[in-house]
Amino acid sequence: MSTVVVAGASIAGLATALAASLRGHRVIVVERDGPPPDGPVADAVGRWARPSVPQASHSHTLTSVGVRVLRTRAPHVLAAARAAGAQLLDLLTARPPGVADEPEADDAELVALACRRTTLELVLHRAVLDQPRVQVRYGLKVEALLVDRAGRRATGVTTDDGDRIAADVVVDATGWRAASRSWLRIAGHPVAADLTSPTDIRGYSRFYRLRGTDAPGPLNRGNAAGVVGDHYAGVLHPGDGGTFSIALAVLPDDDAMRELRDPAAFTSVAASTPGLGPWLADGVADPISPVHAISTRPNVLRGHVVSPEQPLAGLFGVGDAAGVTNPLFGRGVSLALAHAFELVDLLDAHPDPGPAQSRAAAATARDLLLPWYLQATEDDRERIARWRAAVTGAPPAPAPVGHGGRPALRTIGMAAATDPVVWRGLTRVLMGLATPAAVFDDEGFRARVRDAVHVPAAPTPAPTRAALVRAAAGERS
Ligand SMILES: Cc1cc2nc3c(=O)[nH]c(=O)nc-3n(C[C@H](O)[C@H](O)[C@H](O)COP(=O)(O)OP(=O)(O)OC[C@H]3O[C@@H](n4cnc5c(N)ncnc54)[C@H](O)[C@@H]3O)c2cc1C
Repeated sequence: MSTVVVAGASIAGLATALAASLRGHRVIVVERDGPPPDGPVADAVGRWARPSVPQASHSHTLTSVGVRVLRTRAPHVLAAARAAGAQLLDLLTARPPGVADEPEADDAELVALACRRTTLELVLHRAVLDQPRVQVRYGLKVEALLVDRAGRRATGVTTDDGDRIAADVVVDATGWRAASRSWLRIAGHPVAADLTSPTDIRGYSRFYRLRGTDAPGPLNRGNAAGVVGDHYAGVLHPGDGGTFSIALAVLPDDDAMRELRDPAAFTSVAASTPGLGPWLADGVADPISPVHAISTRPNVLRGHVVSPEQPLAGLFGVGDAAGVTNPLFGRGVSLALAHAFELVDLLDAHPDPGPAQSRAAAATARDLLLPWYLQATEDDRERIARWRAAVTGAPPAPAPVGHGGRPALRTIGMAAATDPVVWRGLTRVLMGLATPAAVFDDEGFRARVRDAVHVPAAPTPAPTRAALVRAAAGERS
């Protein structure tokens, strides 16, 4: 069995540690932040500060593929999340008329997990700490790699307290900064170029707790209520234990929305968003956090993780350290979970560090992440142009033709409002159960999109730009 050192004890690093320890490997996890608090999960989550993970204080959902990974690979983690109050959401409740008449065998997979990210991370953390072969070292930063004499293989890491940790496998789970890029440079190796594209989102999140037990309104998006509209997005995600979060997303240079960090402006815009008002009505829920703001990182696929030319054997990236896509799609945690377990499968299939193991790991990361990077790049290009036109008043850019003539996600979304087959295909893609190519490039699917896009659907009463600007300024329309 190998010794695996993992840099980063967040979703990707913890999942890697769990997967490796369940296979009998010895694991040392090095985490820059301190340990999570002890005590009952609900209470500990409220006291947990994650200074190195700013997105931890933002709205999260776990898509169907993340649920599938937990169900099949770590059912005890899913059970612990559910015991902490997380709920499985049946996405079929949001189907357009007609889907119920044509059930399909894999409909059971169309579920999402309503759980705050910190709750999921905490139960994962505790599951890792319960493993006998895992040691987690907190408050330490991995600074560089140990390499063999030939300079071809990673043999461990050094930390900022001067320690040297020997290992057969080094996993970079340090998040979007992908610290292994600097480790490679320090070791004198080239770092392959990344693929990047803009996301252009400024996001605002606030958490609430319901006073009662019933949901105040339906989840029109299955795992969420709200809209991804023509100039902003306003989305509500149910969480664990009667909590929910509301996230508002605008262009970073949308000056009229600059005040959204102010609770009054945030509440006013959120309440103007279709589907969110009932959750914010008097006496329904209480805020349990301030409004947090974040500028999202670009979409990125890390070249040094996915390139078939790997300069150093025994070094791997997982989770955001391998690739990031726009958080509006809510995929990062699910992809990190899937990636971690696939990486450990691969290390068992290719136990010897060397070019074959490195090429296989790069191919695994590329196969898993490239479809989502490409889809996010196209969706964001279309959305950013549309939002910018609405915000500036400029004429909208012509709708771009997608990869290989693939219809834009927005077009597919319009067709999904009336066509059950399109709805099911779109939902499977949005939930990570099928790749965009597998569904959207099917000629029969495209024909249904072309036909259905002209069928009038019930309008979503999203606020106009002028109404939203008034709401942000504090005037309810
Ligand atoms: C606003 C926002 C909303 C999002 N919403 C969703 C959502 O709804 N659903 C979803 O699935 N995803 C969502 N995501 C994405 C998701 O948060 C990330 O994909 C996920 O956190 C990635 O986990 P990770 O473990 O790879 O990295 P991170 O969570 O960033 O963790 C990296 C860890 O590495 C540690 N670290 C860093 N450097 C070092 C070092 N040198 N040595 C030791 N430790 C180190 C850090 O302290 C941290 O613990 C969202 C992201 C954002 C920004």
